[in-house]
Amino acid sequence: MLKSTSFLATFAYTFLLMTTAHSQDLSFSRHLFDTYDTYRESALTHRRFKQVDILPLIDKLKTDARFAVTQVGESVEKRPIQMIKVGNGPRKVLLWSQMHGDEPSATMAIFDIFNWLRTDGPFDAFKQQLLTETTLYFVPMLNPDGAERYQRRNALDIDLNRDALRLQSPESLILKGLQQSLKPDVGFNLHDQSTRYSVGHTPKQATISFLATAYDEARNINPVRERSMQLIVGMNRVLQQFIPGGVGRYSDEFEPRAFGDNIQKWGTTLILIESGGYPNDPEKQYIRKLNYIAILSGLQAIATEAYKTESRSEYNTIPENERYLFDVLIRNAQIMRGGKPVTVDLGINRYEVNVGNATTFGHRSTIDDFGDLSTFFGIEEIDATGLTLAPGRIHPDTLRSVAELKKYKLDSLLHQGVTTFRLANPSRTTTHLEPIHLLQPTTTAVRPVQTNRIPTFVLRRGNQLRYVFVNGFWLDVANGANKLATGVVE
Ligand SMILES: [Zn+2]
Repeated sequence: MLKSTSFLATFAYTFLLMTTAHSQDLSFSRHLFDTYDTYRESALTHRRFKQVDILPLIDKLKTDARFAVTQVGESVEKRPIQMIKVGNGPRKVLLWSQMHGDEPSATMAIFDIFNWLRTDGPFDAFKQQLLTETTLYFVPMLNPDGAERYQRRNALDIDLNRDALRLQSPESLILKGLQQSLKPDVGFNLHDQSTRYSVGHTPKQATISFLATAYDEARNINPVRERSMQLIVGMNRVLQQFIPGGVGRYSDEFEPRAFGDNIQKWGTTLILIESGGYPNDPEKQYIRKLNYIAILSGLQAIATEAYKTESRSEYNTIPENERYLFDVLIRNAQIMRGGKPVTVDLGINRYEVNVGNATTFGHRSTIDDFGDLSTFFGIEEIDATGLTLAPGRIHPDTLRSVAELKKYKLDSLLHQGVTTFRLANPSRTTTHLEPIHLLQPTTTAVRPVQTNRIPTFVLRRGNQLRYVFVNGFWLDVANGANKLATGVVE
Protein backbone atom coordinates (compact mmCIF):
# COMPACT_ATOMS: atom_id res chain seq x y z
CA MET A 1 0.00 0.00 0.00
CA LEU A 2 2.72 2.35 1.06
CA LYS A 3 4.60 1.39 -2.02
CA SER A 4 1.72 2.14 -4.31
CA THR A 5 0.99 5.45 -2.57
CA SER A 6 4.57 6.45 -3.07
CA PHE A 7 4.35 5.29 -6.67
CA LEU A 8 1.21 7.36 -7.15
CA ALA A 9 2.84 10.36 -5.49
CA THR A 10 5.89 10.05 -7.71
CA PHE A 11 3.65 9.64 -10.71
CA ALA A 12 1.56 12.67 -9.74
CA TYR A 13 4.70 14.71 -9.09
CA THR A 14 6.22 13.72 -12.45
CA PHE A 15 2.94 14.48 -14.17
CA LEU A 16 2.80 17.86 -12.45
CA LEU A 17 6.39 18.60 -13.51
CA MET A 18 5.59 17.61 -17.06
CA THR A 19 2.37 19.59 -17.34
CA THR A 20 4.03 22.59 -15.70
CA ALA A 21 6.91 22.45 -18.14
CA HIS A 22 4.50 22.03 -21.03
CA SER A 23 2.12 24.80 -20.03
CA GLN A 24 5.12 27.10 -19.55
CA ASP A 25 6.54 26.49 -23.00
CA LEU A 26 3.11 26.90 -24.58
CA SER A 27 2.47 30.27 -22.94
CA PHE A 28 6.02 31.37 -23.82
CA SER A 29 5.51 30.47 -27.46
CA ARG A 30 2.07 32.09 -27.57
CA HIS A 31 3.68 35.26 -26.19
CA LEU A 32 6.40 35.03 -28.87
CA PHE A 33 3.70 34.68 -31.51
CA ASP A 34 1.69 37.66 -30.25
CA THR A 35 4.67 40.02 -29.95
CA TYR A 36 6.49 38.91 -33.10
CA ASP A 37 6.01 42.15 -35.07
CA THR A 38 8.04 44.06 -32.47
CA TYR A 39 11.12 41.97 -33.26
CA ARG A 40 10.69 41.12 -36.93
CA GLU A 41 13.70 42.34 -38.96
CA SER A 42 12.03 44.76 -41.37
CA ALA A 43 14.99 44.87 -43.80
CA LEU A 44 14.19 41.29 -44.92
CA THR A 45 10.84 40.99 -46.65
CA HIS A 46 11.17 38.26 -49.28
CA ARG A 47 13.21 35.13 -50.03
CA ARG A 48 15.70 36.43 -52.61
CA PHE A 49 17.79 38.67 -50.39
CA LYS A 50 21.56 38.47 -50.82
CA GLN A 51 24.54 38.59 -48.49
CA VAL A 52 24.83 42.34 -49.19
CA ASP A 53 21.44 42.69 -47.48
CA ILE A 54 22.47 40.94 -44.27
CA LEU A 55 26.00 42.37 -43.85
CA PRO A 56 24.71 45.73 -42.48
CA LEU A 57 22.49 43.80 -40.04
CA ILE A 58 25.53 41.87 -38.78
CA ASP A 59 27.50 45.15 -38.55
CA LYS A 60 24.81 46.54 -36.24
CA LEU A 61 25.45 43.63 -33.85
CA LYS A 62 29.14 44.60 -33.62
CA THR A 63 28.13 47.75 -31.73
CA ASP A 64 26.32 45.68 -29.08
CA ALA A 65 28.63 44.35 -26.36
CA ARG A 66 26.49 41.23 -25.89
CA PHE A 67 27.39 39.97 -29.37
CA ALA A 68 30.78 38.83 -30.66
CA VAL A 69 31.09 38.72 -34.45
CA THR A 70 33.96 36.72 -35.96
CA GLN A 71 34.78 36.01 -39.55
CA VAL A 72 35.18 32.24 -39.70
CA GLY A 73 36.18 32.01 -43.35
CA GLU A 74 35.25 32.87 -46.92
CA SER A 75 33.07 31.35 -49.60
CA VAL A 76 34.46 30.19 -52.95
CA GLU A 77 33.89 33.71 -54.30
CA LYS A 78 35.53 35.30 -51.23
CA ARG A 79 32.36 36.41 -49.51
CA PRO A 80 33.02 36.59 -45.77
CA ILE A 81 31.26 33.99 -43.62
CA GLN A 82 30.59 35.29 -40.17
CA MET A 83 29.69 33.73 -36.86
CA ILE A 84 27.75 35.60 -34.20
CA LYS A 85 28.26 34.47 -30.63
CA VAL A 86 25.97 35.48 -27.80
CA GLY A 87 25.67 34.22 -24.21
CA ASN A 88 28.24 32.55 -21.97
CA GLY A 89 26.55 29.50 -20.54
CA PRO A 90 27.84 25.95 -20.34
CA ARG A 91 25.50 24.47 -22.99
CA LYS A 92 26.81 25.25 -26.45
CA VAL A 93 24.44 25.49 -29.41
CA LEU A 94 25.54 25.96 -33.03
CA LEU A 95 22.89 27.15 -35.50
CA TRP A 96 23.56 27.49 -39.24
CA SER A 97 21.21 28.37 -42.06
CA GLN A 98 21.07 28.46 -45.85
CA MET A 99 23.80 25.93 -46.62
CA HIS A 100 21.56 25.64 -49.67
CA GLY A 101 21.45 29.10 -51.26
CA ASP A 102 17.76 28.95 -52.18
CA GLU A 103 16.62 27.98 -48.66
CA PRO A 104 16.43 31.31 -46.81
CA SER A 105 13.48 31.05 -44.39
CA ALA A 106 15.53 30.38 -41.27
CA THR A 107 18.09 33.08 -42.13
CA MET A 108 15.29 35.63 -41.85
CA ALA A 109 14.21 34.08 -38.54
CA ILE A 110 17.77 34.28 -37.16
CA PHE A 111 17.80 38.05 -37.72
CA ASP A 112 14.42 38.27 -35.96
CA ILE A 113 16.00 36.35 -33.07
CA PHE A 114 18.92 38.82 -32.94
CA ASN A 115 16.41 41.67 -32.62
CA TRP A 116 14.57 39.77 -29.90
CA LEU A 117 17.86 39.28 -28.04
CA ARG A 118 18.83 42.96 -28.37
CA THR A 119 15.52 44.55 -27.39
CA ASP A 120 14.75 45.03 -23.71
CA GLY A 121 11.21 44.21 -22.68
CA PRO A 122 8.89 41.51 -21.43
CA PHE A 123 11.25 38.62 -22.19
CA ASP A 124 14.19 39.97 -20.16
CA ALA A 125 14.04 37.38 -17.37
CA PHE A 126 14.01 34.52 -19.81
CA LYS A 127 16.72 36.08 -21.99
CA GLN A 128 18.96 36.38 -18.98
CA GLN A 129 18.41 32.74 -18.14
CA LEU A 130 19.06 31.75 -21.76
CA LEU A 131 22.32 33.69 -21.97
CA THR A 132 23.50 32.38 -18.60
CA GLU A 133 22.71 28.76 -19.39
CA THR A 134 23.73 28.61 -23.07
CA THR A 135 26.29 29.98 -25.49
CA LEU A 136 24.74 30.43 -28.92
CA TYR A 137 26.81 30.41 -32.10
CA PHE A 138 24.91 31.51 -35.24
CA VAL A 139 26.19 31.16 -38.81
CA PRO A 140 23.49 32.72 -41.00
CA MET A 141 23.74 32.06 -44.75
CA LEU A 142 26.56 29.50 -44.91
CA ASN A 143 26.33 29.52 -48.73
CA PRO A 144 26.30 33.21 -49.77
CA ASP A 145 27.43 32.42 -53.35
CA GLY A 146 24.42 30.14 -53.79
CA ALA A 147 22.15 32.81 -52.28
CA GLU A 148 23.53 35.31 -54.82
CA ARG A 149 22.20 33.07 -57.61
CA TYR A 150 19.27 31.76 -55.55
CA GLN A 151 20.41 28.21 -56.19
CA ARG A 152 20.96 25.17 -53.98
CA ARG A 153 24.63 24.57 -54.77
CA ASN A 154 27.68 26.72 -54.09
CA ALA A 155 29.87 28.45 -56.70
CA LEU A 156 31.72 25.15 -57.38
CA ASP A 157 28.32 23.61 -58.25
CA ILE A 158 28.75 21.35 -55.21
CA ASP A 159 25.89 20.53 -52.86
CA LEU A 160 27.42 21.36 -49.46
CA ASN A 161 25.16 18.81 -47.83
CA ARG A 162 26.87 16.04 -49.80
CA ASP A 163 30.35 17.36 -49.02
CA ALA A 164 30.68 16.49 -45.32
CA LEU A 165 33.21 13.69 -46.03
CA ARG A 166 35.15 14.92 -49.06
CA LEU A 167 35.21 18.56 -47.85
CA GLN A 168 36.04 20.10 -51.23
CA SER A 169 34.26 23.40 -50.53
CA PRO A 170 35.56 26.10 -48.20
CA GLU A 171 32.04 26.41 -46.74
CA SER A 172 32.06 22.71 -45.80
CA LEU A 173 35.45 23.06 -44.14
CA ILE A 174 34.12 25.98 -42.10
CA LEU A 175 31.12 24.00 -40.85
CA LYS A 176 33.12 20.91 -39.97
CA GLY A 177 35.80 23.09 -38.35
CA LEU A 178 33.24 24.80 -36.14
CA GLN A 179 31.70 21.52 -35.05
CA GLN A 180 35.12 20.06 -34.23
CA SER A 181 36.48 23.11 -32.42
CA LEU A 182 33.36 24.25 -30.53
CA LYS A 183 32.05 20.73 -29.84
CA PRO A 184 28.49 22.07 -29.47
CA ASP A 185 26.02 20.09 -27.39
CA VAL A 186 23.24 20.85 -29.87
CA GLY A 187 23.20 21.83 -33.54
CA PHE A 188 20.35 23.36 -35.55
CA ASN A 189 20.62 22.54 -39.27
CA LEU A 190 18.18 24.93 -40.93
CA HIS A 191 16.78 24.26 -44.40
CA ASP A 192 13.79 24.70 -46.70
CA GLN A 193 12.02 21.73 -48.30
CA SER A 194 9.63 21.36 -51.21
CA THR A 195 6.34 23.19 -50.68
CA ARG A 196 4.68 20.08 -52.11
CA TYR A 197 5.45 17.75 -49.21
CA SER A 198 2.29 16.61 -47.45
CA VAL A 199 1.90 15.62 -43.81
CA GLY A 200 1.43 11.89 -44.24
CA HIS A 201 -1.26 10.91 -46.74
CA THR A 202 -3.31 14.09 -46.24
CA PRO A 203 -3.96 17.29 -48.24
CA LYS A 204 -2.07 19.32 -45.59
CA GLN A 205 1.21 20.90 -46.65
CA ALA A 206 4.14 20.05 -44.37
CA THR A 207 4.75 23.66 -43.29
CA ILE A 208 7.55 22.66 -40.95
CA SER A 209 9.24 19.25 -40.87
CA PHE A 210 11.66 18.01 -38.25
CA LEU A 211 14.25 15.29 -38.27
CA ALA A 212 16.32 13.75 -35.51
CA THR A 213 18.94 12.79 -38.06
CA ALA A 214 20.23 9.21 -38.07
CA TYR A 215 23.93 8.67 -37.45
CA ASP A 216 24.15 5.16 -38.93
CA GLU A 217 22.50 2.89 -41.52
CA ALA A 218 20.62 0.98 -38.81
CA ARG A 219 19.08 4.24 -37.53
CA ASN A 220 20.02 3.40 -33.97
CA ILE A 221 19.09 5.68 -31.12
CA ASN A 222 21.84 6.69 -28.71
CA PRO A 223 21.54 9.42 -26.05
CA VAL A 224 22.77 12.05 -28.53
CA ARG A 225 19.98 11.25 -31.00
CA GLU A 226 17.40 10.67 -28.29
CA ARG A 227 17.90 14.27 -27.16
CA SER A 228 17.10 15.43 -30.74
CA MET A 229 13.85 13.49 -30.56
CA GLN A 230 12.94 14.96 -27.19
CA LEU A 231 13.66 18.51 -28.31
CA ILE A 232 11.58 17.97 -31.47
CA VAL A 233 8.65 16.60 -29.45
CA GLY A 234 8.53 19.90 -27.53
CA MET A 235 8.91 22.08 -30.62
CA ASN A 236 6.21 20.10 -32.41
CA ARG A 237 3.80 20.67 -29.51
CA VAL A 238 4.51 24.38 -29.71
CA LEU A 239 3.93 24.56 -33.47
CA GLN A 240 0.69 22.55 -33.35
CA GLN A 241 -0.89 25.62 -31.72
CA PHE A 242 -0.30 27.66 -34.86
CA ILE A 243 -0.37 25.05 -37.65
CA PRO A 244 -2.51 22.17 -36.37
CA GLY A 245 -1.68 19.09 -38.44
CA GLY A 246 0.94 21.05 -40.40
CA VAL A 247 4.11 19.46 -39.00
CA GLY A 248 5.84 16.55 -40.71
CA ARG A 249 8.74 14.24 -39.93
CA TYR A 250 11.50 14.05 -42.51
CA SER A 251 12.72 10.64 -43.62
CA ASP A 252 15.56 9.39 -41.41
CA GLU A 253 17.28 7.36 -44.08
CA PHE A 254 21.01 7.64 -43.38
CA GLU A 255 22.93 9.78 -45.87
CA PRO A 256 26.65 9.18 -45.27
CA ARG A 257 27.73 12.34 -47.14
CA ALA A 258 25.39 14.79 -45.38
CA PHE A 259 26.33 17.14 -42.56
CA GLY A 260 23.35 16.45 -40.32
CA ASP A 261 24.05 12.73 -40.26
CA ASN A 262 27.76 13.21 -39.61
CA ILE A 263 27.36 15.90 -36.97
CA GLN A 264 24.99 13.60 -35.09
CA LYS A 265 27.67 10.91 -35.45
CA TRP A 266 30.37 13.29 -34.21
CA GLY A 267 28.41 13.70 -30.97
CA THR A 268 26.38 16.90 -31.37
CA THR A 269 22.63 16.47 -30.87
CA LEU A 270 21.37 17.48 -34.30
CA ILE A 271 18.00 18.98 -35.12
CA LEU A 272 17.00 19.42 -38.73
CA ILE A 273 14.26 21.98 -39.37
CA GLU A 274 12.83 22.10 -42.88
CA SER A 275 10.57 24.98 -43.89
CA GLY A 276 7.96 23.85 -46.41
CA GLY A 277 4.85 25.54 -47.74
CA TYR A 278 1.87 27.34 -46.25
CA PRO A 279 -1.21 28.47 -48.20
CA ASN A 280 -0.88 31.97 -49.68
CA ASP A 281 2.59 32.49 -48.22
CA PRO A 282 4.85 32.35 -51.30
CA GLU A 283 7.55 34.48 -49.67
CA LYS A 284 7.39 32.31 -46.53
CA GLN A 285 6.92 35.18 -44.10
CA TYR A 286 4.54 33.23 -41.85
CA ILE A 287 6.85 30.21 -42.03
CA ARG A 288 9.73 32.48 -41.02
CA LYS A 289 7.73 33.47 -37.94
CA LEU A 290 7.13 29.79 -37.13
CA ASN A 291 10.88 29.19 -37.39
CA TYR A 292 11.52 32.01 -34.94
CA ILE A 293 9.05 30.50 -32.48
CA ALA A 294 10.28 26.91 -32.93
CA ILE A 295 13.96 27.83 -32.54
CA LEU A 296 13.41 30.04 -29.48
CA SER A 297 11.22 27.36 -27.90
CA GLY A 298 13.91 24.77 -28.59
CA LEU A 299 16.53 27.04 -27.03
CA GLN A 300 14.29 27.49 -24.00
CA ALA A 301 14.02 23.71 -23.62
CA ILE A 302 17.83 23.46 -23.80
CA ALA A 303 18.38 26.25 -21.27
CA THR A 304 15.86 24.86 -18.77
CA GLU A 305 16.47 21.19 -19.63
CA ALA A 306 12.69 20.88 -19.97
CA TYR A 307 13.24 18.50 -22.88
CA LYS A 308 14.32 15.81 -20.42
CA THR A 309 10.68 15.24 -19.48
CA GLU A 310 9.73 14.50 -23.10
CA SER A 311 9.17 10.95 -24.27
CA ARG A 312 11.07 10.00 -27.40
CA SER A 313 8.26 7.66 -28.47
CA GLU A 314 6.09 10.72 -29.10
CA TYR A 315 8.54 11.67 -31.85
CA ASN A 316 7.34 8.73 -33.93
CA THR A 317 3.73 9.96 -33.76
CA ILE A 318 4.61 12.94 -35.98
CA PRO A 319 3.43 11.88 -39.47
CA GLU A 320 6.15 11.39 -42.07
CA ASN A 321 6.57 13.72 -45.03
CA GLU A 322 4.90 12.26 -48.09
CA ARG A 323 4.51 13.34 -51.70
CA TYR A 324 0.77 13.53 -52.26
CA LEU A 325 0.49 17.14 -53.40
CA PHE A 326 0.46 19.00 -56.67
CA ASP A 327 0.28 22.78 -56.90
CA VAL A 328 -2.93 22.31 -58.89
CA LEU A 329 -4.97 19.13 -59.29
CA ILE A 330 -7.70 19.09 -61.95
CA ARG A 331 -10.11 16.22 -61.32
CA ASN A 332 -12.27 14.39 -63.86
CA ALA A 333 -11.62 16.41 -66.99
CA GLN A 334 -12.72 14.97 -70.27
CA ILE A 335 -10.26 14.98 -73.10
CA MET A 336 -10.73 13.77 -76.68
CA ARG A 337 -8.34 11.09 -77.87
CA GLY A 338 -8.82 9.56 -81.33
CA GLY A 339 -12.35 10.93 -81.41
CA LYS A 340 -13.27 9.34 -78.07
CA PRO A 341 -13.67 11.01 -74.67
CA VAL A 342 -11.24 9.93 -71.95
CA THR A 343 -11.55 10.97 -68.28
CA VAL A 344 -8.31 12.19 -66.72
CA ASP A 345 -6.96 14.06 -63.72
CA LEU A 346 -4.02 16.43 -64.26
CA GLY A 347 -1.30 17.07 -61.69
CA ILE A 348 0.30 20.46 -62.35
CA ASN A 349 3.36 21.92 -60.68
CA ARG A 350 4.68 25.47 -60.97
CA TYR A 351 8.46 25.82 -60.98
CA GLU A 352 10.14 29.11 -60.17
CA VAL A 353 12.56 30.57 -62.69
CA ASN A 354 15.02 33.19 -61.43
CA VAL A 355 14.85 36.55 -63.17
CA GLY A 356 17.03 39.69 -62.98
CA ASN A 357 20.14 38.17 -61.35
CA ALA A 358 17.87 36.10 -59.12
CA THR A 359 16.32 39.17 -57.51
CA THR A 360 12.85 38.06 -58.57
CA PHE A 361 11.19 35.16 -60.39
CA GLY A 362 8.69 33.92 -62.91
CA HIS A 363 7.40 30.40 -63.49
CA ARG A 364 7.51 27.55 -65.91
CA SER A 365 4.82 25.03 -65.05
CA THR A 366 4.45 21.48 -66.25
CA ILE A 367 1.89 18.71 -66.25
CA ASP A 368 3.74 16.28 -63.99
CA ASP A 369 1.14 13.53 -63.92
CA PHE A 370 -1.91 12.56 -65.92
CA GLY A 371 -4.52 9.84 -65.56
CA ASP A 372 -6.16 8.55 -62.38
CA LEU A 373 -4.78 10.80 -59.61
CA SER A 374 -7.60 10.08 -57.17
CA THR A 375 -5.13 9.20 -54.39
CA PHE A 376 -3.49 12.66 -54.62
CA PHE A 377 -4.42 16.17 -53.54
CA GLY A 378 -3.96 19.67 -54.94
CA ILE A 379 -2.91 22.74 -53.00
CA GLU A 380 -5.46 24.21 -55.41
CA GLU A 381 -8.11 21.84 -56.79
CA ILE A 382 -10.42 22.23 -59.77
CA ASP A 383 -13.39 19.91 -60.17
CA ALA A 384 -13.70 19.51 -63.92
CA THR A 385 -16.55 17.00 -63.85
CA GLY A 386 -18.60 17.58 -67.00
CA LEU A 387 -15.91 19.84 -68.52
CA THR A 388 -13.92 19.15 -71.66
CA LEU A 389 -10.27 20.12 -71.90
CA ALA A 390 -9.26 21.71 -75.22
CA PRO A 391 -6.42 23.88 -76.56
CA GLY A 392 -6.69 27.63 -75.97
CA ARG A 393 -6.99 30.00 -78.92
CA ILE A 394 -3.92 31.39 -80.64
CA HIS A 395 -4.19 35.09 -81.47
CA PRO A 396 -3.94 35.73 -85.25
CA ASP A 397 -1.26 38.44 -84.78
CA THR A 398 2.40 37.52 -84.61
CA LEU A 399 4.40 39.65 -82.15
CA ARG A 400 7.82 41.06 -82.96
CA SER A 401 8.73 41.13 -79.28
CA VAL A 402 7.32 40.32 -75.84
CA ALA A 403 6.94 44.06 -75.21
CA GLU A 404 4.30 44.27 -77.96
CA LEU A 405 1.87 42.47 -75.63
CA LYS A 406 1.24 45.88 -74.06
CA LYS A 407 -0.82 46.88 -77.11
CA TYR A 408 -3.53 44.33 -76.33
CA LYS A 409 -6.36 44.19 -73.81
CA LEU A 410 -5.21 40.86 -72.45
CA ASP A 411 -7.94 40.52 -69.86
CA SER A 412 -10.61 40.67 -72.51
CA LEU A 413 -8.70 38.27 -74.79
CA LEU A 414 -8.28 35.76 -71.95
CA HIS A 415 -12.02 35.88 -71.25
CA GLN A 416 -12.51 34.86 -74.88
CA GLY A 417 -10.20 31.87 -74.47
CA VAL A 418 -7.13 33.39 -76.16
CA THR A 419 -4.14 31.94 -74.32
CA THR A 420 -1.30 32.18 -76.82
CA PHE A 421 0.59 34.45 -79.21
CA ARG A 422 3.31 33.56 -81.68
CA LEU A 423 6.61 35.46 -81.71
CA ALA A 424 8.20 36.49 -85.02
CA ASN A 425 11.69 36.69 -83.49
CA PRO A 426 13.29 34.36 -80.96
CA SER A 427 13.14 35.54 -77.32
CA ARG A 428 15.91 34.78 -74.85
CA THR A 429 13.63 35.00 -71.84
CA THR A 430 11.68 31.94 -70.75
CA THR A 431 9.21 33.69 -68.47
CA HIS A 432 7.53 37.10 -68.54
CA LEU A 433 5.07 39.12 -66.51
CA GLU A 434 1.88 38.93 -68.61
CA PRO A 435 -0.30 35.82 -68.22
CA ILE A 436 0.12 34.77 -71.84
CA HIS A 437 1.80 31.76 -73.41
CA LEU A 438 4.26 32.85 -76.12
CA LEU A 439 5.53 30.53 -78.82
CA GLN A 440 9.03 30.91 -80.25
CA PRO A 441 9.14 31.01 -84.07
CA THR A 442 10.31 27.38 -84.15
CA THR A 443 7.76 25.93 -81.68
CA THR A 444 4.91 23.85 -83.10
CA ALA A 445 1.67 25.55 -82.19
CA VAL A 446 -0.89 22.86 -81.48
CA ARG A 447 0.17 19.75 -79.59
CA PRO A 448 -1.78 17.35 -77.41
CA VAL A 449 -2.03 17.99 -73.68
CA GLN A 450 0.15 15.39 -71.98
CA THR A 451 2.82 14.90 -69.31
CA ASN A 452 5.83 17.24 -69.30
CA ARG A 453 3.96 19.82 -71.39
CA ILE A 454 3.22 23.34 -70.19
CA PRO A 455 -0.38 23.48 -68.89
CA THR A 456 -1.97 26.05 -71.21
CA PHE A 457 -5.53 25.11 -72.30
CA VAL A 458 -9.16 25.81 -71.62
CA LEU A 459 -11.95 23.83 -69.95
CA ARG A 460 -15.41 24.13 -71.50
CA ARG A 461 -18.89 22.98 -70.64
CA GLY A 462 -20.27 22.31 -74.12
CA ASN A 463 -19.51 25.51 -76.02
CA GLN A 464 -19.27 27.59 -72.88
CA LEU A 465 -15.83 28.59 -71.62
CA ARG A 466 -15.36 27.79 -67.92
CA TYR A 467 -11.62 27.90 -67.04
CA VAL A 468 -8.66 29.40 -68.88
CA PHE A 469 -5.26 27.96 -67.95
CA VAL A 470 -2.00 29.72 -68.87
CA ASN A 471 1.30 28.25 -67.69
CA GLY A 472 -0.43 26.38 -64.85
CA PHE A 473 -2.27 29.45 -63.53
CA TRP A 474 -5.99 29.83 -64.06
CA LEU A 475 -8.95 32.11 -64.51
CA ASP A 476 -12.47 30.98 -63.59
CA VAL A 477 -14.53 32.68 -66.28
CA ALA A 478 -17.81 31.82 -64.53
CA ASN A 479 -17.15 33.53 -61.20
CA GLY A 480 -14.19 35.79 -62.01
CA ALA A 481 -11.75 34.07 -59.62
CA ASN A 482 -8.37 34.93 -61.08
CA LYS A 483 -5.16 33.16 -60.14
CA LEU A 484 -3.35 34.11 -63.35
CA ALA A 485 0.31 34.99 -62.83
CA THR A 486 3.45 34.95 -64.93
CA GLY A 487 3.44 33.80 -68.55
CA VAL A 488 5.91 31.61 -70.31
CA VAL A 489 7.91 31.56 -73.55
CA GLU A 490 8.15 28.12 -75.09
ZN1 LIG B 1 18.52 22.12 -47.84
